[in-house]
Amino acid sequence: MATSDNDPMKPVATPTPRRKPKQEITRIGGRELKPSTLMMGHGYDPALSEGSLKAPIFLTSTFAFENAAAGKRHFEGITGKRPGGAEGLVYSRFNGPNQEILEDRLAIWDGAEDALCFSSGMTAIAILILAACKAGDVIVHSGPLYAASEGFVAKVMARYGVRYVDFPAGADRDQLDEVMARAKAMAEESGGEVPLIYLESPGNPTNALVDVEAVKAARDAHFDPDRCPIAIDNTFLGPLWQRPLEQGADLVVYSLTKYVGGHSDLVAGSVSGAKRWIDAVRALRNTMGGIADPNTAWMLLRSLETVELRMQRAGENAEKVCAFLSQHPKVEKLGYLGMIKDARQQDIYDRHCLGAGSTFSMFIKGGEAECFAFLDALKVAKLAVSLGGTETLASHPASMTHLSVPEGRRTELGIADNLVRVSIGIEDPEDLIADFAQALEAV
Ligand SMILES: *Cc1c(COP(=O)(O)O)cnc(C)c1O
Repeated sequence: MATSDNDPMKPVATPTPRRKPKQEITRIGGRELKPSTLMMGHGYDPALSEGSLKAPIFLTSTFAFENAAAGKRHFEGITGKRPGGAEGLVYSRFNGPNQEILEDRLAIWDGAEDALCFSSGMTAIAILILAACKAGDVIVHSGPLYAASEGFVAKVMARYGVRYVDFPAGADRDQLDEVMARAKAMAEESGGEVPLIYLESPGNPTNALVDVEAVKAARDAHFDPDRCPIAIDNTFLGPLWQRPLEQGADLVVYSLTKYVGGHSDLVAGSVSGAKRWIDAVRALRNTMGGIADPNTAWMLLRSLETVELRMQRAGENAEKVCAFLSQHPKVEKLGYLGMIKDARQQDIYDRHCLGAGSTFSMFIKGGEAECFAFLDALKVAKLAVSLGGTETLASHPASMTHLSVPEGRRTELGIADNLVRVSIGIEDPEDLIADFAQALEAV
């Protein structure tokens, strides 16, 4: 059979693929590139994927080894027989290309050494807590927490012999010292340690801020900082408006479902921080699973390209809407970080926050009936729980997200019957004000 050089059936010699991605450019001259610039390419080399400008979605459950010795080296890394972890990709429960790029880019936003992505915010939180604790230990946490986080600590961890002590979000150094001393005594009595201080700031739905600097000072005074990391759920203000690693937190936790995902079309979570803390969490994720899937990771790469733009616009919109609401005769008060009334809270805000966010509480004069009339009259804003999406959402915590909280605790947390929770999106601000104005007329 005759063959010629232009025979379409003749196999084309493929160039040997480069195994290592090209050198990353993170500086130009003396200038360190900003996260918003790095989001377009960091951690991805088109030459490794047929020149595809954007990362393809890698749908595979397993990865081919170059040779048997390479396979052995990977497993030595995964099992901890050799330090440094796996050198390449092995199996999709451990990691994949889309998730690795996502993790590299997530770490950039918080100025963290390393990051891990998860299938939900709660998976991230649950695996972080499980990785830190053993029977007899006592967790110290701020309150209130996201209801599922609070339940995981109080109900699930209790079944494994882990107790907790909590303190109110705004606690000062004296209160923190008292709480840490009490936790230490409890842990000693049950033969354990305090292996984790877990914070959420601002708290939901009151927007009360935690003084991370004071928590770090108290932690350093009572515990060995190498055995007791401070983790903080930064879902409400991160990554743009609060950078807790700079105030002394060791780990930052996200529900990426909210501002980072930002389009109300996915569920995911993450943990970022120093490698020595992240490695223990990664080991448990390798065992349990719970990593984000490749498609979700790919969607999050797209989200990260616009996260700064979206959050800036949402923040500006919220400022305008709150300026309108604060003057409205049917609005009793606002729980908005741009209009703090308390000197201690304002001091924490000034030290910790770069912006007021776009999620706030609005107290309508009246009670549940007035709130329901308002919610039912909204035309642009949607009636749904969650936050941080491109669209404006409103809900009624007392009868929805916090219905299961006992009435006494609800009052303590400031979750009144006349509270409407609002997350402002990126619509036209004047359209939003028109919508809120006409809905308040229906009250
Ligand atoms: C939504 C949320 C979570 C849980 O995240 P999921 O992605 O829904 O699992 C945790 N913390 C805060 C503050 C949240 O708003």
